[in-house]
Amino acid sequence: MNLTENILPSSIAPATLLLPGPDLFGVRAARLRHLAHGHGLAPWLNGLADVCDAQQMALNTLPALIGLPSGDAAGPPLAGHQAAALWQALPAVVHQLFTASRGLTIPPAREPGAEALQRMAQDGLKMAVGEVATGQRDAASILVAAALQVVWTAAARTIALSAMTPLQDLAPCPCCGSAPVGAVVMAGEGKGGLRYLECSLCATRWNAVRARCTLCEEGSVVQYLGLEGASGAVQAEACDHCGGYIKTFFQDKDIQIDPLADDLGSLTLDILVGEQGYARAAPNLFLQAAEPVRDMTRD
Ligand SMILES: [Zn+2]
Ligand SMILES: [Zn+2]
Repeated sequence: MNLTENILPSSIAPATLLLPGPDLFGVRAARLRHLAHGHGLAPWLNGLADVCDAQQMALNTLPALIGLPSGDAAGPPLAGHQAAALWQALPAVVHQLFTASRGLTIPPAREPGAEALQRMAQDGLKMAVGEVATGQRDAASILVAAALQVVWTAAARTIALSAMTPLQDLAPCPCCGSAPVGAVVMAGEGKGGLRYLECSLCATRWNAVRARCTLCEEGSVVQYLGLEGASGAVQAEACDHCGGYIKTFFQDKDIQIDPLADDLGSLTLDILVGEQGYARAAPNLFLQAAEPVRDMTRD
């Protein structure tokens, strides 16, 4: 009898962090195409699926990142301001995505020069931490944001778990400091019922208490709002105390659910929840119109 096998399954605490998989973007591309079937926004979702395929290619061919932060500094090790190694890797990935985009079904986008790239990347990182972006985002902004996701996801997969900041209530991504795109309630694999927030930038998932507002200090009980007649796999977790909401994605209702993709596929829910007076609190770097996103980092 193997003793460790007998003891471990029930005594191991649930993982507080789940790192993004090597095929994150490819899986997301497939999910977007699935959601596009019969969807009113099918061309847009299919175009973003193409971008995700290009992201996967870029992730697969990205040279190893050298000189990643060791986590000695205070705060998340991959926060934009202290991740020089990531900034160095970014221009090549941007070039790769813009080159790939010529064959894609998204509007044509002109590759930015060094200065414009810097500005667009800063804007993307600001959006990821939940700062309000202004105006309409064009295809170029979305491609630069897609490149940021590739580099930050590669770094999240490489950096030592010990370098990440410990989890705290209301804290943003322990890896890069960005705000979550949404929450996912897991099914199966011994994680059934556990709720994780997924980073809008690096896709790291961190464990967060369920049925409690993740946006405000009151820890208020939330109410779940969904679309009538829908599967219930996507619901808005709305808080009457702070007036914010974040979407929650239920794997037991749909095992293939992907917080970023399914967020884009469920914008009708945002309209419904917005009409009831709640404000969206989660950034999604693929959204075209700049949403009035609450700044979670200043809570
Ligand atoms: Zn992150
Ligand atoms: Zn709240």
